[in-house]
This record gives sequence, C-alpha cells and structure tokens, in this order.
Amino acid sequence: MNDVLVLTEAGLHCPAGGFHIDPWQGVDRALITHAHADHARAGSRTYLAADRGLPLLRARLPADATIDTLRYGERRRVGDVDVSFHPAGHVLGSAQIRIGHRGRVIVVSGDYKLAPDPSCWRRVWNFARVSSQEA
Ligand SMILES: [Zn+2]
Repeated sequence: MNDVLVLTEAGLHCPAGGFHIDPWQGVDRALITHAHADHARAGSRTYLAADRGLPLLRARLPADATIDTLRYGERRRVGDVDVSFHPAGHVLGSAQIRIGHRGRVIVVSGDYKLAPDPSCWRRVWNFARVSSQEA
C-alpha cells in the first residue's frame, strides 16, 4: 500500500498519525468517513469525523462515545500528520479524509456519490491537488 497507511486486523491504520480509518474493531482513535454501519462501529476510545455527520454518529454509536469533529476543510495535526475532511456527497456528513505527511498527500475516499444529493454537500474533486500545492 504505502507507509502512510497500512492494513491491520483492525482495518486501515496510519502509524504516523496513531489512528485508524473506519476501523473494523475498537481502536484508540478512529477517524470516521461517515455514519453507515459498515464504517462507524462502536468500541473505539475516541472518534473524529466531519461535524455535519455528528447527529448521525450520535444515533449510530453508544451514548457515551467520545466524538470530536472538524468542519469540512479544517485541518488538524494528529500525531505527525495533518488531517482534514472533505465532502464525499454520499450521505449527510460523509467525508473523504485527506492525510498530509512530509509533503505527501493521501486521500481516503470512503463511500462517495457522483450524482447531486440534496441531503449533503456535493463531492469535491480537486482538494488534494490544491492542498498539495499549499504544502
Ligand atoms: Zn456508506
């Protein structure tokens, strides 16, 4: 795959960031692309997702789940990487996750939709290229 993301028993893992994306089992820190059951699972210590999906995640995950959010396009340093969430057009709050690490940019698309959907922001296409130019 690459050294930014590796596949583990718990799913897609970013060692430099110390997190998993849409993990299959409980992990320390889970970044969630969207609230569908095959992506957002109970059992992780903390969650980070796009803020627009918070109501759906609250309904999906246990009441005591620790869920932090970012606005679309907002960057946060997590471990040694910069992460941000960008619209995927799939369901309310769905996101592609951009990971910036040492001048490289990796995007995990999750599920996305190409057709317009009035329930969510339309998928963006060019943020990785733009973000790379900023790096
Ligand atoms: Zn989905």
